[in-house]
Amino acid sequence: MKVIAMARFHSLQISLRTRFTLGLGVVLLPFLLAAGMGLFYLLPQLVDPLEDIVREVTDEMEPVVHLQVDLLAATTPVDDYHINSDSDELKLFIQLSHQVDLAFKEAAPERFTLARERELIVSARNQWQEARQIGEALLRLRHPIGDPQAAREKKRFNTLVDLSVDLLEQAHDISHSTIDADHAKSHITRTRSIWVTFGAFTAALIISLFVSAALARSVLSGVDALRQGAGRLAAGELSHRVAVTHRDELGELATAFNAMAKKLEENQKALYELAIRDGLTGLYNHHTFYVLLADELARVQRFERPVSLLLLDIDHFKRVNDTHGHQAGDAVLRGLSELLNHQVRTIDRVCRYGGEEIAIILPETGLEGAAHVAERMRAGVEAQPFDVNDDAPLRITVSIGIASFPAHADGVEALVAAADAALYASKRNGRNRVSRYEPAPDQPVARE
Ligand code: GH3
Ligand code: MG
Ligand code: MG
Repeated sequence: MKVIAMARFHSLQISLRTRFTLGLGVVLLPFLLAAGMGLFYLLPQLVDPLEDIVREVTDEMEPVVHLQVDLLAATTPVDDYHINSDSDELKLFIQLSHQVDLAFKEAAPERFTLARERELIVSARNQWQEARQIGEALLRLRHPIGDPQAAREKKRFNTLVDLSVDLLEQAHDISHSTIDADHAKSHITRTRSIWVTFGAFTAALIISLFVSAALARSVLSGVDALRQGAGRLAAGELSHRVAVTHRDELGELATAFNAMAKKLEENQKALYELAIRDGLTGLYNHHTFYVLLADELARVQRFERPVSLLLLDIDHFKRVNDTHGHQAGDAVLRGLSELLNHQVRTIDRVCRYGGEEIAIILPETGLEGAAHVAERMRAGVEAQPFDVNDDAPLRITVSIGIASFPAHADGVEALVAAADAALYASKRNGRNRVSRYEPAPDQPVARE
């Protein structure tokens, strides 16, 4: 199941960047659910009972309030009796006192949590009991009006009732302030919990965004470099290398990629060399000669500069083969190529035109300069003994034909034909010599 899900995820046609974002988003989802559940489900469950308790405690205070009302009501018959001396007031007082007693039972001290509250209730009850006895005694007096003793006792009765009400008020206040404090605390806790959850979630979000961005960057930068590298390699830029900035699997991949690119570049170079050079002599081959000459003519045409071409042919080379064998002939060809390569400048191009004919392109060289180079070559070859693993070293001579661009020709084919004609002239005139191209008398001589 898990494997199938993973395989699906891998086969999705979405970018790595999107996959990273989606993956980390999914990782974040449980946190989001936990935070939501905590805020909207667990927190109310925790705080609501607290509020219920607060409500219950407030309800508990209800009897105390009733008690205070009943206490004050109980003073009325005593006050009235001192005005009207009505004997019914005693009955009413007993009835009201009974109510007060019942109310005291309802507000029993055990119901209160704080010791101070209990003390206050107990002493309020004591005050009331004393006041009750005085009240009853006052209501049994036949003529209370104008009796100074009765007036004093009534005052004491009122003081005791007031004291009892006051003590109950204090107990009530204590409960209230405790409840208020607890209520405020639960509110603070609720607010704090919301902020803590919100803060934790925001922090988790920021951290995961940061981590996902950093992770994506660290992985994707390497992948991007490899992708670009592969693209440039595919476009033929074999010298391109990927920067190895990671010391991880991506780094290993980049190193392997660079090794592969290096190998490809080397192979391509080797193939290119094989394609452009002649296998026996190492000189540029016939095809490359034409490419090089065409390039050179295109270049000098733009800058109006001269270029000369030498065509060199070994004299009586057939005899070398016939007398010393083809291998000796090959050795002579290799030796001659080496010698010529040593005699030219780096910008000159020595090419094997075919058989034992060698073409030398001399850029930036006019007819005079070319004649000088050709003569030096001819003399150099004549003076050079070639070791062909035979008893005595072999000596050869060469004939050379020179043609210059733009003096003798205006294109590749014409220049080669002119050099060939000059070479032919050297052969005709006895070999081992250098000949410049001589245009036919009816042919206009091009400018040099
Ligand atoms: P010439 O002075 O008129 O040029 O006389 P030549 O004998 O050099 O002329 P020809 O063109 O008749 O003979 C050229 C010979 O060069 C024929 C061929 O056997 C030989 N040759 C051509 N290519 C090679 C090669 O790669 N190796 C060897 N050993 N001989 C070659
Ligand atoms: Mg020859
Ligand atoms: Mg030849």
